[in-house]
Amino acid sequence: MPAGRYWLETLGCPKNEVDSDKLVGQLTAQGYVAADDPTDADLVVVNTCAFIEAAREESVETILALSDIRAQGSRLVVTGCMAERYGQELADSLPEVDLVAGFGEDLIQPASVRVAIGRRPDTRAEASLLELPRTAAAGPWAYVKVAEGCDRRCGFCAIPSFRGDQRSRSGPSVLAEIEALADGGTREAVLIAQDLASWGLDRRASGEALDVLDERQPGVQPLVSLVGQAAQAIERVRLLYLYPSGLTEGLIEAILATGVPYFDLSLQHASASHLRRMRRWGGGERFLERIAAIRAAEPSSSFRSSFIVGYPGETEADHDELLEFLDEAQLDWAGFFAFSPEEGTYAKDLDGQVPASLVAERLAEVTERQDQITAIKRDDKVGAILTVLVDEPGIARSTAEAPEIDGVIIVPDSLEAGTMVDVEIVASLGTDLEAVVRARP
Ligand code: SF4
Repeated sequence: MPAGRYWLETLGCPKNEVDSDKLVGQLTAQGYVAADDPTDADLVVVNTCAFIEAAREESVETILALSDIRAQGSRLVVTGCMAERYGQELADSLPEVDLVAGFGEDLIQPASVRVAIGRRPDTRAEASLLELPRTAAAGPWAYVKVAEGCDRRCGFCAIPSFRGDQRSRSGPSVLAEIEALADGGTREAVLIAQDLASWGLDRRASGEALDVLDERQPGVQPLVSLVGQAAQAIERVRLLYLYPSGLTEGLIEAILATGVPYFDLSLQHASASHLRRMRRWGGGERFLERIAAIRAAEPSSSFRSSFIVGYPGETEADHDELLEFLDEAQLDWAGFFAFSPEEGTYAKDLDGQVPASLVAERLAEVTERQDQITAIKRDDKVGAILTVLVDEPGIARSTAEAPEIDGVIIVPDSLEAGTMVDVEIVASLGTDLEAVVRARP
């Protein structure tokens, strides 16, 4: 007899999806089973996102919508970034919510508890969510979260203010999760963290053992060793969110050696002076050098990045520099976000706020420019023979496409999910490609 039925709604980024996988593991261990429908659940959980205003609005709308339809007597629990960031304030403004629970808190609490945040005596308790076992893999690929929090303080970003400093999982724990995923049939592990390239540096700084990973090679970037070992455990290893200064030669070599030449560089802008205002490293010239070096080593490498438009102080010249950078870098994929002044960030009250109409204009311009570049890059693939992983009937990805954020390759429905197949690209449809089965010559 189960303890009850739960419904879990997940909003926000891939990192939140991993947290939700772990929450499912926690609830399953507590005797709960998944409900078929939110109206049928005893426990309705919303794992929220607080990244920007639009994400917060979506989270509140979801909470209210679920509150309207949930069964009488069920409990509504809000967790995730909004819970952690707004805690008591959220509980006060949403009387519909029975419990606001922070990271790693038990979702099953006595009715008298409305807010459970940071009550754990263990200050590294968030790590307990990271370390919770996940339930069996959901499909051919899975996110693997290797660290929580961030030690950087980029001017626009509120994440460190509520996720805290970086806490990395140990190497063996990450590898054990990847091995378990591979044993369950997963073929691609997508490693994620707020600042993935810095994985392990906190453990090294605090004197905690990195276990097997870098003790034989002190000074080596911990992620280099992790990527090498992960690639032994599963067929594809993909890395997301690499801070550009962390993309060292050693890491580039390690990524290329995995056979997945995919580089997701978190660049945010191209103007060096503007990046300093953002409190970030780098500049267009340095980025271009790094990209050229990677392409020289592996011409089939794919690149993704994200950029912020309209951060305070962004001049017309900065914007032009970004456009020129896009032309030269020829990235396969890029996402553009309008600056959003977030509570608790350095940039919130900075001088030089860019008017919303100008931000919208600049956003449209960079998006249009990149859309053209992406379309041409996709056209160039017509005629290529690629090995793809079939995610679900009709949908596959080569090494050039990350799940959920990039385009896909449309393949015959007859191909079985979870298989790797050689295909020939026969058409380009904007961001997606179409392919037929074809053996390599
Ligand atoms: S590196 Fe990423 S998560 Fe860390 S402060 Fe900068 S933008 Fe935020």
